[in-house]
Amino acid sequence: MDWTILEFMSTNNRSSCGYCKDVRGQDAASSSEKGSFSVQNSKFHVLTVGEEAEGDESSGEEQPEGRIQSSVTGGVWAHRMLVDDYAGLLDKGWRRSGKYLYKPNNKVTCCPQYTIRLDVTRFKMSRSQKRAMRQMNEFLANDKRPVCGIKEEDPVEKKEQEGASSSSTKTSNKNLASPDAKRAKPADRPVLKKKEIRRAKFEEKCRKRNVDPEAIRAERRQKDADRQRTVRSYIDEARPDWKHKLEVKLVTVGSPEYEQRLDESYELYKKYQQTIHKDKEPRLPGWRTFLCDSPLLKDTRGGVNFGAFHMWYLLDDKLIAVGVVDVLPRCLSAKYMYYDPDYSFLSLGTYTALREIEQTQQLHAKWPPLKYYYMGFYIHSCPKMRYKAKFRPSELLCDKSFEWADYEICRELLDKAEDNGYVEFCPNSDRPTPPRLENLFVMAPGGIQTFASALREVPSAVDNQELRRNFEYVADLVGPDVPNLVFYFSALNPDD
Ligand SMILES: [Zn+2]
Repeated sequence: MDWTILEFMSTNNRSSCGYCKDVRGQDAASSSEKGSFSVQNSKFHVLTVGEEAEGDESSGEEQPEGRIQSSVTGGVWAHRMLVDDYAGLLDKGWRRSGKYLYKPNNKVTCCPQYTIRLDVTRFKMSRSQKRAMRQMNEFLANDKRPVCGIKEEDPVEKKEQEGASSSSTKTSNKNLASPDAKRAKPADRPVLKKKEIRRAKFEEKCRKRNVDPEAIRAERRQKDADRQRTVRSYIDEARPDWKHKLEVKLVTVGSPEYEQRLDESYELYKKYQQTIHKDKEPRLPGWRTFLCDSPLLKDTRGGVNFGAFHMWYLLDDKLIAVGVVDVLPRCLSAKYMYYDPDYSFLSLGTYTALREIEQTQQLHAKWPPLKYYYMGFYIHSCPKMRYKAKFRPSELLCDKSFEWADYEICRELLDKAEDNGYVEFCPNSDRPTPPRLENLFVMAPGGIQTFASALREVPSAVDNQELRRNFEYVADLVGPDVPNLVFYFSALNPDD
């Protein structure tokens, strides 16, 4: 029997939020896409943990006071973890940063975070996603740089920055939903103009040849439908005589191949953090702890290796982007990505997400249950996160019932949400009954055993109300169907 061992750390860890205004009143989201937080670990001293780990304002101490807004999470430290258990925890809204697993307390945290996923067997590329693929190919083939790259951020943000009227974010969201508002986006105007010119030219041509433009359009539409473009179809266009070669590789973290480019990868991370996130001092230990370390135990099914990987993007053998991902029995989970800012013109945020989706499709062909692409947390109030919902059809995880709901339905609810923006997407579904504490497994001096038996072994823990409260809290967040968990509480191991 193999186990996942989780050491309890905190129920309500408060920290500065990377997504909204912090105590200094600055818009942290503008300089940091990902949140960060700190946590006290009994064994590992004070750690600053987060997808956007070090270099942030986190001091490594809990700061419940003085924060206007703060991120509230519960956390455990995974000493080892079965891939199925991690997949199960992802479906309860957990996420990992290195070996630290955390789950936002969405009812009280300043920016509720919902797990977002995409069924890759139903994925359809949007127009701008196709453009990102096309622009990459044009660059690889002819060294041609796009005149105007695709917008990787949500237009809502741009609108707000431009101070377009006094409309609230909520109103803007609604505008975004309507095609008319989309058409009115200022940045799209040049594109539109070009389109109109093209259309006029096309119609004139048709007139000259005496053919019906509508008939030709219908024919084209049919052709388009016949060759519904996939990400793979763009990748397969590559030819040996192209000016550049892009190689994308899924590399096992810790493998000899991975070790070969360790320095190059870290230097790339440093450049990215400094340029994109204005992080003055990215450090090697932080990068290792949060983007390389993993508690996942290796496993293989159907020829697919599960565990922690770095997805390398090698342009003419130079590392230009790294996607940090987990391959799990049901999904590929994207954790972080960093790229060379010199290549921003290639819309690498979108391009790499598309390649990760394609990678998931490849893995699905080998191991059919693996069919989801997890993009981490979606934060409705954070415009920089909206791009995640552009990969359709997406679903969000209901924090109450742990059921998945269609993004379009969730968006309507989120637009109407009050207070901190917390929403139950499936209000009519009940929360699954958590397992009985007495039956759960814990680590105690006599080894792995049920909580009931551990209490007989450690009498001092019987009346420990804090232990029981913490255990109930974590058991509720974990839910009933993650079977191989063993919990470690210091109260049950007084001599450690
Ligand atoms: Zn926040």
